[in-house]
Amino acid sequence: MALDQQFSDQAEFAAYCREWLADNRPDPTEIPLPQAAYEVTLTEHRDYLVDWQKKCFEAGLIATDLPLEYGGHGFDGFQRVATSEVQKAGAPYFINWIGLGMTVPTLLAHGTEEQKRQFLPTIFSGEEIWCQGFSEPGAGSDLASLQSKAEKQGDHWVVNGSKIWNSMGALADWMLLLARTDRDDKYGGITYFLCRMDAPGVSVIPIYKMTGESGFNEVHLENVVVPDHQRIDEVGAGWKVAMSTLTSERGAGTGVGAVASSDSPMSHLDRLIGLAKNTPKNGRPAWDDPVIRDRIVKLYVRVSGVVENARRSRVRDLNGGAMRLPLQFKLVNSEILQEAHQVALSILGPAASLYVGDPDAVDNGKWALGYMNTYTSTISGGSSEIQRNILGERVLGLPKTK
Ligand SMILES: Cc1cc2nc3c(=O)[nH]c(=O)nc-3n(C[C@H](O)[C@H](O)[C@H](O)COP(=O)(O)OP(=O)(O)OC[C@H]3O[C@@H](n4cnc5c(N)ncnc54)[C@H](O)[C@@H]3O)c2cc1C
Repeated sequence: MALDQQFSDQAEFAAYCREWLADNRPDPTEIPLPQAAYEVTLTEHRDYLVDWQKKCFEAGLIATDLPLEYGGHGFDGFQRVATSEVQKAGAPYFINWIGLGMTVPTLLAHGTEEQKRQFLPTIFSGEEIWCQGFSEPGAGSDLASLQSKAEKQGDHWVVNGSKIWNSMGALADWMLLLARTDRDDKYGGITYFLCRMDAPGVSVIPIYKMTGESGFNEVHLENVVVPDHQRIDEVGAGWKVAMSTLTSERGAGTGVGAVASSDSPMSHLDRLIGLAKNTPKNGRPAWDDPVIRDRIVKLYVRVSGVVENARRSRVRDLNGGAMRLPLQFKLVNSEILQEAHQVALSILGPAASLYVGDPDAVDNGKWALGYMNTYTSTISGGSSEIQRNILGERVLGLPKTK
């Protein structure tokens, strides 16, 4: 459903977004939302976030630049304005981040016309939540080793196997599923499917992180029937399609671009500076400690680089390779985030051990919680080591490791 309002330029659209967000930002939930959409498990959080995403979509803040025939709003060059305004407003994150960030670009690039028309609108509105069933116990970094198998029987496939680390699996309606259709061909024997999470034979078991939170899951598939029209691209083309999904997951896709979160790289740093100014260390604010200041300034320089690179990446001739800056972003940003939390824990000293729920914990223990959660982004979607390999081999053209 298109937004029935026109805008003469990005500035006018930005003003519209700001005003809409100021008028519509929801009140906080009774039980605070987890730090990231990865960790959402409660139905009341899901309902609240689906409602929020639906409103943002109807207001034109999601699928802003996507074609009208797929439920988008048909603008050009407005999505990043909307995304940036959502971030600046500190609004809640979008629950359907896998749908928006991975399913949408994958379907746009590889889906049939029917698949795009069927799936895209409910992804935008958040009415159907998506998860990603790629990793398996023996296939993470070496994803092509996956062993879940799909066998063709008439007009459908029967899938057996197990997936792991599946974020949102307990809340999702659909899963992006990779399965092996040929045992003898490591890469060419993988096919890409869309699997209903309520299909008979799908079971989901939560996994708990060191933070005590869940959010990711084991997913077991036992004789699960997947109709052939839920296959993406050709039989055996799954590796190519998966690479397209992962490119989007790693930040270099051209898709919907609306995986807004309430945080930007600079907002973390602002909070860290606030902590340093307000926390005493050796009788003075930690901000006065030259070692702490040095670490924060170094982070500031790196974050400024990230922010400027994001601007630079919009100008094709300044990119130095189509994927370099976006791929670099995941690696650099996730490591900066981790380091910012390490500095926060140094500032807090022994008080850093007070965790969420402890009445004496600074900021309700969110620095310790956040530090542990930063490992999500240095591991998921390809670990930092794998990101470095990709940048070295595919972007810089260094010799390939085996
Ligand atoms: C919070 C979270 C959410 C996730 N959500 C999902 C999800 O929704 N769906 C999904 O499918 N998966 C998901 N994952 C899985 C994630 O993609 C994998 O954990 C990741 O790809 C690493 O795979 P692995 O855990 O099997 O580690 P391994 O591949 O066993 O790697 C172990 C270590 O070895 C290093 N290593 C491995 N190979 C190389 C190499 N060639 N060169 C250098 N170093 C190497 C790795 O960097 C890592 O440090 C999630 C993971 C996390 C942590």
